[in-house]
Amino acid sequence: MTNNKQYRVLLFYKYVQIEDHEYFAKKHLKFCKELGLKGRILVAEEGINGTVSGTIEQTEAYMKHMHEDVRFHDIWFKIDEAEGHTFKKMHVRPRSELVTLKLEDDHNPNEVGGKHLSAKEWNELLKQAMEDEDIIILDTRNDYEYELGHFRGAIRPDIKSFRELPEWIEENLGDKKDKKILTYCTGGIRCEKFTGYMVNQGYKDVNQLHGGIVSYGKDSEAQGEFWDGKCFVFDDRLAVDINRTSGATILTNCHYCGKPEYRYVNCANPECDYLHISCKECEERNHRSCSAKCKEHPENLYRKENMKQEV
Ligand SMILES: [Zn+2]
Ligand SMILES: [Zn+2]
Repeated sequence: MTNNKQYRVLLFYKYVQIEDHEYFAKKHLKFCKELGLKGRILVAEEGINGTVSGTIEQTEAYMKHMHEDVRFHDIWFKIDEAEGHTFKKMHVRPRSELVTLKLEDDHNPNEVGGKHLSAKEWNELLKQAMEDEDIIILDTRNDYEYELGHFRGAIRPDIKSFRELPEWIEENLGDKKDKKILTYCTGGIRCEKFTGYMVNQGYKDVNQLHGGIVSYGKDSEAQGEFWDGKCFVFDDRLAVDINRTSGATILTNCHYCGKPEYRYVNCANPECDYLHISCKECEERNHRSCSAKCKEHPENLYRKENMKQEV
């Protein structure tokens, strides 16, 4: 056995102008592949957003390279330890925006946005919010992320994707523009864009958790105290622990057998693709399918993958 935790996962973003971002993406992909990194990076004219995994040496080399570029000299890397790569491939994709909001009246997050709160400030306000109805804690992530874990007392927007959030806000919080709003997301980038939208809509006291949930979980003072459940992450780990005071709690259950479980899988029938929670045993037994019909589907991906392994 080799030592575990020899790998790292980096999470990062920066809103900064990148000229000819399509060319940049091509070059950056080549660079990342040469380093041996794996992961997913989005590049837009408005900036960069990514998460990659690699050995300590590979990730150190990547951070050094980025910090040497004037555009990214102050980019904040959130670092997690891992036992191996948490992605299977390396992608760098050009995009029109870093997080898909498709606002009619788009803004630069460096110019307009909420106040950034430290983990300590965040904890104090969360404590206050338990007695003060004028403080609203808003989870800006998707419903399946919320279900796996969230801040105590947070509102869950009933949305399937981030771009539905502006409409939801107008309908549900439109009469609360004078209240104190606290927003959070995984690494901070969704709030970075979203709080600017709220400020522009006339919300007077908008605040966001600086560095997102993952940084909150690393803060030695906050200890992840007000986080319940696990935190969904967009890589092979599926979820990470945040709360270090009570240990990991699991809020969700296996779709099939009902035992506490946090593994999200997509139904192996490509025409269904239903996102559900399944333990490993039930995944094997059901071929990762949400129904008998999906299990028998001729294009069932689970069957294909497992046939490949046998060859
Ligand atoms: Zn199960
Ligand atoms: Zn299905």
